[in-house]
Amino acid sequence: SKMVEVRNVVKYFGRLKALDDVSFDVHDGEKVVIIGPSGSGKSTLLRSINKLEAIDGGRIVVDGIDLYSQQTDINKVREEVGMVFQSFNLFPHKTVLENITLAQLIVRKRSKKEAVEKAMMLLGKVGLAEKAAAYPGKLSGGQQQRVAIARSLAMDPKVMLFDEPTSALDPEMIGEVLDVMKSLAREGMTMVVVTHEMGFAREVADRVIFMDYGKIVEEGTPEHFFTNP
Ligand code: ADP
Ligand code: ADP
Repeated sequence: SKMVEVRNVVKYFGRLKALDDVSFDVHDGEKVVIIGPSGSGKSTLLRSINKLEAIDGGRIVVDGIDLYSQQTDINKVREEVGMVFQSFNLFPHKTVLENITLAQLIVRKRSKKEAVEKAMMLLGKVGLAEKAAAYPGKLSGGQQQRVAIARSLAMDPKVMLFDEPTSALDPEMIGEVLDVMKSLAREGMTMVVVTHEMGFAREVADRVIFMDYGKIVEEGTPEHFFTNP
């Protein structure tokens, strides 16, 4: 079944057409990698799927919810769609554990006990159980990004969006973040990933989308993109 449906989406910044009639689907459990030059609209497209942008045309449906219909509650969207950014955006004055429980308590209205259990389970999964009491500033970039992924997963999203999740990391930390993403992929998470990591695309993607000037100009399997003629 379709998890994400993007139909004829148009987005302007002033006179610049950042998204120009973009359409594609992501099926349940599918992994889509989006590539393309800087400024081609990749980030704007991902942000639109999380309702962080107001689109000017077309529609986006996630798990049956029409994101840009008047009636749609923004909080409902945030529960369905998890997003991980290039910059980790953790709360610096909260511990790792608090970073992961906060939205669970407020948005999901879970009990403290439930939220902590979930957070500890996810911290184990990203290999950081021993860092629960640490403040983000004490962690490496790779560790902070793994916490950011755990925080996003704590909301039980149906889809995870990754916007250049390793671009701000030192090279030696890229692998640990990609490993967490690969294990998430193996568990069947529906994922849309903007990345320059072609090894990841080759290994994980069911489909690669190439964007240029706000349009999808090519779409195919990793083999199609990465096999030299
Ligand atoms: P990519 O992620 O592929 O690098 P973006 O989606 O970030 O591309 O940007 C697409 C185009 O839209 C670029 O020309 C960029 O400068 C422009 N853009 C992005 N965000 C804004 C904004 N908030 N205001 C004006 N222009 C923007
Ligand atoms: P990314 O490609 O990772 O989104 P950018 O540096 O392109 O990073 O954008 C960072 C932020 O600045 C985003 O919120 C984007 O919307 C905004 N932005 C990008 N280009 C422009 C622009 N030309 N004018 C205004 N804001 C912009």
